[in-house]
Amino acid sequence: MKIQAYVADNEQVSLKEVQLKEIDADEIVVKIVGTGLCHTDLNVLHSITPTPMPIVLGHEGAGVVEKVGSGVTEFEVGDHVVVSFNYCGKCVNCLHGVPSACENFFQDNFGLSLETSNSKIVDGEQKIANLFGQSSLATYCVANVRNTVKIEDKEIDLSLLGPLACGIQTGAGTILNKLKPNIHESVVIFGCGSVGLSAVMGAKLANCKTIIAVDVNDERLDLALELGATHVVNGRSEDAVKAIQDITNGGAHYAIESSGVSAVVLQAIRAVRALGTIAVVGASGMLEFHIHDELIPMNKTLVGVVEGQSIPKLFIPELIKYYKEGNFPFDKLIKTYEMDNLDQAIHDMESGKTIKPVILFS
Ligand SMILES: [Zn+2]
Ligand SMILES: [Zn+2]
Repeated sequence: MKIQAYVADNEQVSLKEVQLKEIDADEIVVKIVGTGLCHTDLNVLHSITPTPMPIVLGHEGAGVVEKVGSGVTEFEVGDHVVVSFNYCGKCVNCLHGVPSACENFFQDNFGLSLETSNSKIVDGEQKIANLFGQSSLATYCVANVRNTVKIEDKEIDLSLLGPLACGIQTGAGTILNKLKPNIHESVVIFGCGSVGLSAVMGAKLANCKTIIAVDVNDERLDLALELGATHVVNGRSEDAVKAIQDITNGGAHYAIESSGVSAVVLQAIRAVRALGTIAVVGASGMLEFHIHDELIPMNKTLVGVVEGQSIPKLFIPELIKYYKEGNFPFDKLIKTYEMDNLDQAIHDMESGKTIKPVILFS
């Protein structure tokens, strides 16, 4: 079938007509309603994250099932779905229930080469790579039974739900699935983008006594306060580490670093107390810093977290439940753009004007 898709190649992205080939038994064609734009799309566009090219971008898709493969029993045509990260379902970590640590994560989400890719997207004879087992910046995408999540409540505005599949579950999941802070503990979140602000909302859901948001943009810090931060620190006008140590009487129990800036990772390490944990979730291609001996004598733990260590089929419906109860207002992070307005959406995300753009496809 013919589709319209945002194809990236040579650092350029453009809306093109391409084709989808016949799907395999475990695959699903989704008619996209809205797809979130995430920094990973831009990292792929600019080859900071290496992938085969050309590639169709988009990995936070939401839409309606258009067609199912012959072996699919979990979904039917007309189901509302969100498409999340891809995983193999067969490796040791997948079998242990940690698909975000899938041993085939890189291959299944970014692809190794066009020859080995299972992408169903072609432009005539030219094979086009697939991102995160979806490539959902398009009118239709091919997902599979593993990375597709059914949304039972058809009353919810489906166009807003795509970002739950990556950025928002990364922030909230790092708190709720990985760090699991206790009610009396303190959390500091560096970076108030969609991941950081989702972590603020996650910490509020976990009833953390002290939730500190750090950013250099006062407007974002105001939003952090609205979403549940108990304290905010502007890292440009204040010494963030000292401010956090003062607020927490010596250092936070947990830090989340979502900015992807090396110097901020170092601040996060210094801002936690002895036995504290620093979760690094921001990917910028390269983190480089010297930590002297601050981790060992203070028994601090530095941990990388992918996709909030979520099981999307369990966690996304849980986040939607919190949203419906009024306790997870992630829609406040979203601004929608029409299908042909990707350039504006990228510009607004890069300039910081928009926290989470969603491109509408129908
Ligand atoms: Zn796996
Ligand atoms: Zn993402």
